Amino acid sequence: MSYESPRVRAMSGYTWGEQPLRPDAIKLNTNENPYPPSPKVDEALRSFDVASLRRYPQPTADGFRDVVARKLGVERSNVLATNGGDELLRLAFTTFVDAGNVYGTTYPSYSLYPVLAAIQGCSEFTVPLENDWSMPGDIARRFNEAGARLICIVNPHAPSGTLARSDALAVIAREFRGVVLIDEAYVDFVDPTLSHRTVSLIRDFDNVILLRTLSKGYSLAGLRLGFAVARESLIEPMLNKTRDSYNVDAIAQHLAAAAFGDTAYASSTWARVRAERDRLTTELRMRAFELPSSQSNFLLARPPMHAPSAKAIQASLKARGILVRHFDAPRLTDKLRITIGTPEQNTAFLHALDDIIGK
Ligand SMILES: *Cc1c(COP(=O)(O)O)cnc(C)c1O
Repeated sequence: MSYESPRVRAMSGYTWGEQPLRPDAIKLNTNENPYPPSPKVDEALRSFDVASLRRYPQPTADGFRDVVARKLGVERSNVLATNGGDELLRLAFTTFVDAGNVYGTTYPSYSLYPVLAAIQGCSEFTVPLENDWSMPGDIARRFNEAGARLICIVNPHAPSGTLARSDALAVIAREFRGVVLIDEAYVDFVDPTLSHRTVSLIRDFDNVILLRTLSKGYSLAGLRLGFAVARESLIEPMLNKTRDSYNVDAIAQHLAAAAFGDTAYASSTWARVRAERDRLTTELRMRAFELPSSQSNFLLARPPMHAPSAKAIQASLKARGILVRHFDAPRLTDKLRITIGTPEQNTAFLHALDDIIGK
């Protein structure tokens, strides 16, 4: 017999991207940064006092919060450190949505949201994106009419990589009556010439939470460190009520402060990813793949008619030791999501692709 609650028995968990055992595999499937973390992280780890692990960590990760606050020009009380961005998402559901309530998101979006909603026992209302992956102009009204308490907007969008500008986000924040969580997991990769700024949204609106993470932009997916930026009135219940009492361990706090303090290094990796994003976009379009311009560290590309299916290409790439992501879902099943790798990895990907599509 099953001891799971009926709610948990009825749901399915998150499907994560494959982490291969082969060390020589070319991993373009889970949007990790292809470059190592800052050398400052290495130094911080070497100088970490292991004896200090005897004690509990600083409960609210204040050292890290201060580094973030200084860099973003906000107060410590506007920042919450979490065990990866994913914990922040879970906290948003726990804190702002009760069982039986509605939450909203776009279709498609990050596939973790419905899992967290199911755990919390709340129902999902989705608004389909337009053909160019932009949000419809009346999206806030539709979420209001559905009675949503919380909406999760991933921007740059996953899995398309497209960007909504901050004035469009401001309109949603103004019109929507609940909490607007803007999932900015990939915001570090946005072209700086676009001057995309969102921190001002938390000054203008009391219902906006920005999600950031060190997993992608700072090459620290293995560390598990994310954070929220929001008005104190939204941070406070998550900080003092719903969070695990020691949600960020001492090593993570120490290394994250070192990483976030070295934005100069991290931004050099973003520039390299952007350069390769441009090259890969051009190369794929030359092969008649169809893809929107991405402001993220991945591309969502549809193979041309005459080529094997996206699913078949993924399998053939895998047989050659190259992993990319394929989603068996509406609007996505005919496409591949390809993480931007190093120049060498991307070239190897293109060679394998040419072999498969017979160019
Ligand atoms: C990676 C990612 C996150 C957070 O990931 P963590 O590793 O938990 O910080 C959140 N949202 C999206 C869309 C992501 O891709």
